[in-house]
Amino acid sequence: AKEKREIPQEIIEKVKKLREEIEYHNYRYYVLDSPVISDAEYDALMRELRRLEEMYPELITPDSPTQRIGFKPAEGFKEVPHAEPMLSLDDAMNEEEVIEFDKRIKRFLGLPEETPIEYTVEPKIDGLAVELVYENGSLSIGATRGDGYVGEDVTNNIKTIPTVPLRLRKFTEDAPDIPPRIDVRGEVYMNKDEFKRINEERIRKGELPFANPRNAAAGSLRQLDPSITAKRKLDIFYYGVGKVEGYKFKTQWEILQTLPKWGLKVNPYVKLVKDIKEAINYHHHIERIRDTLPYEIDGVVIKVNDLSLWEKLGTKARSPRYALAYKFQPTQVTTQLLDVVFQV
Ligand code: NAD
Repeated sequence: AKEKREIPQEIIEKVKKLREEIEYHNYRYYVLDSPVISDAEYDALMRELRRLEEMYPELITPDSPTQRIGFKPAEGFKEVPHAEPMLSLDDAMNEEEVIEFDKRIKRFLGLPEETPIEYTVEPKIDGLAVELVYENGSLSIGATRGDGYVGEDVTNNIKTIPTVPLRLRKFTEDAPDIPPRIDVRGEVYMNKDEFKRINEERIRKGELPFANPRNAAAGSLRQLDPSITAKRKLDIFYYGVGKVEGYKFKTQWEILQTLPKWGLKVNPYVKLVKDIKEAINYHHHIERIRDTLPYEIDGVVIKVNDLSLWEKLGTKARSPRYALAYKFQPTQVTTQLLDVVFQV
């Protein structure tokens, strides 16, 4: 029998404290749309907890924040189960971690290390993930990601976003027929100008400003009264699909090329690259132009292009093995929050 090792009491305490802290911040972020720390600070807490759990796997519990996605649907919203789970993403902060991701994929697939793998690289839009169900081309349900398995029904709110088609159409001659059912996924976001406008308005009215455009987007979409959502200028970029009936995509690039032909807007900076080196270079390029974009992004998402490899690679508890969020160096998120408060 394996000998049970002693886990130092201070580690047990540290893990407990980290979990409590993270749970509190999750609540502020996912339920109240009102975080009190920056994402970089939050990510650091999560990394620390993950590191300790990797050192002491005996401490992992199914309800640890590292095992979860998002948060349960809030009171007042009808629940919508996702036909396919909407997972989270592992993240990387530097080149070494990205190279390790590529190596891990090859080890998993039993491929020699020098085999190049094609990836898509997509800006990681800082908004909230939604899933739209189209049945026979008509929008039937719009839901938030929620805890990844069950989301919130925000159909009426989503319908107020002008770039959400209520009906899919073939806009080009080479567009495939609209599948009888397709769940499309995208990121609802608020651009920087609208964020500024709304916060100025809130401050004028003596209300608390939103911490960042992501929270403003989430707070605007997750309204029980859709007329409030309609007054906020929200937008969406589509980046993937969930369950699809009657059509089979072969690559992520094909998904990104096809969605716009049906009227679903894809971010113009998505790119197909031939190997991980090119993905890293493109990340640096996007990081350089980041501030010129009218919306916020916090990194790029790197995805294996070949969908048959997605099936082989599979998923872990909360994230797929075929994708990675390669984050940018943290900027002044906290400062930005303070700037707004100091304007009051
Ligand atoms: P994540 O944000 O790391 O990555 C998954 C999400 O990325 C998807 O759900 C989707 O919404 C988004 N995304 C944007 N563009 C995409 C694209 N092209 N392809 C695929 N996905 C794309 O996952 P998460 O589980 O939501 O991570 C939590 C995030 O929220 C982290 O950034 C964390 O810092 C932040 N957070 C902050 C606090 C806080 O208190 N500040 C608390 C909780 C969470």
